[in-house]
Amino acid sequence: MKLTTQDRRDNQRRALSRRLTATELLPLLQNKRGIRVLETDETIKLRPWKARVETLTDVQKLVHLAMRKDIVDEEDLKTALTKQRRRAYEDEVTIQLERLGCQKTGRLSAGPALTELSELSRVDAQSIIATYNDDLAKTITGIADKNPRANRHTYAKNLKTWDTTRAAEKSKQIAQFTDSSARSVALKDFYTFNDVQGFAVLAPTTAQCPVCAGWIARGEVPMQEATNNSPPYHPNCPHFWQTFSDQKADQNGCAELWNGS
Ligand SMILES: [Zn+2]
Repeated sequence: MKLTTQDRRDNQRRALSRRLTATELLPLLQNKRGIRVLETDETIKLRPWKARVETLTDVQKLVHLAMRKDIVDEEDLKTALTKQRRRAYEDEVTIQLERLGCQKTGRLSAGPALTELSELSRVDAQSIIATYNDDLAKTITGIADKNPRANRHTYAKNLKTWDTTRAAEKSKQIAQFTDSSARSVALKDFYTFNDVQGFAVLAPTTAQCPVCAGWIARGEVPMQEATNNSPPYHPNCPHFWQTFSDQKADQNGCAELWNGS
């Protein structure tokens, strides 16, 4: 399958959307407060993942308390992820409309699709925050292993670097996943609500993971099968369905096409 100018333009658009998402997520994944030096008599509120935190020393517990993410961070992240998902969804619907020859944009209004995107984001935000808090505890232990005499300043210095590096890497990974999962929902909705026949090819055509390699080897996949087996197949999965259809809509056809609302 040779890429057309339209394919290339659509893909540039998808890539731009992922970059935008990553930039917007970065500050939410980083610890903005820095390490507050807490009074030792301040009560340490243990979290559900407290098992690991309980194994830390008192100083380490304070460091963890100062840096970990809480329910407010989780809510902010969920809101941001839903916003990104909505944008990716609308963008993908626009791409699909354009491919049928329609100058119409995707618009997602309140309804089951938006609820689905919001629910995906809620689950993701929960897991991202829990992973952060757990990684934080592991990193604190790691710093002490290397430097048994580490004090709060040692932790602060090391954790700042860890936090920055981690956020940069994770924001790209999360952006990729958020964008891709929303586009998959959009694609499925588009071909469910519109009576359009077509097929899809998994792109890009190189893969590390056997699942992705399998779909690539299949070549042209009927649209329904493609949308029932949507990427991302794993974290960092760069794949998406490149769609093809012989159909083009006329003006009346365009007006009747479902565009998300
Ligand atoms: Zn993949």
